[in-house]
Amino acid sequence: GLCQQASFLISAAKVDQCPDDSGYEVAFAGRSNAGKSSALNTLTHANLARTSKTPGRTQLLNFFRLDDERRLVDLPGYGYAKVPIPLKQHWQHHLEAYLGSRESLVGVILMMDIRHPLTEFDRMMLDWSVASGMPLHILLTKADKLAYGAAKNALLKVRQELRKGWGESVSVQLFSAPKRQGIDEAHTVLARWLEL
Ligand code: GDP
Repeated sequence: GLCQQASFLISAAKVDQCPDDSGYEVAFAGRSNAGKSSALNTLTHANLARTSKTPGRTQLLNFFRLDDERRLVDLPGYGYAKVPIPLKQHWQHHLEAYLGSRESLVGVILMMDIRHPLTEFDRMMLDWSVASGMPLHILLTKADKLAYGAAKNALLKVRQELRKGWGESVSVQLFSAPKRQGIDEAHTVLARWLEL
């Protein structure tokens, strides 16, 4: 599949350093430590995103090429407690600038740790996606940390909260990088958004 040919394209510290805004782009978002890098690596069968990162480096938007007109973008992780306020504001500013202006953006994959779903950051992303009509799909990561029944219950509970708070347009699934669980389901969403 196309995701197997993913390769690093460019890091952008600002929106004006992003690659040409043409074709199709899917963004990966999540609170720091939610499992975003692991999910990106698992879904692309590559080692695109470092799984151990230092806060200072994660302010960049990292673009990965799938083909001439399709890209994935790793949005800055959010929520490191140790990061000073000005850097947080810097992240938020560039994140908002990217989300608000990117014509080629066709959808957002949001990673949430199944044990700590719907953080303040997640709610902000959900509010934005519903307000702007941007498709959003949630991976409940680290599903392997819970027993099967507990994971299913967590999924149903989150789905219920999503319906109540953000309507029917947001979808959600279980995901585990080490167990390679939920890959096909996530690929189906990516293929639909990227018109593959
Ligand atoms: P990021 O900060 O959102 O990019 O998170 P990472 O992908 O770097 O993951 C943070 C930590 O959670 C690392 O120690 C990963 O090994 C671990 N992790 C990520 N995904 C999973 C998963 O699906 N299952 C388990 N058990 N651990 C995971």
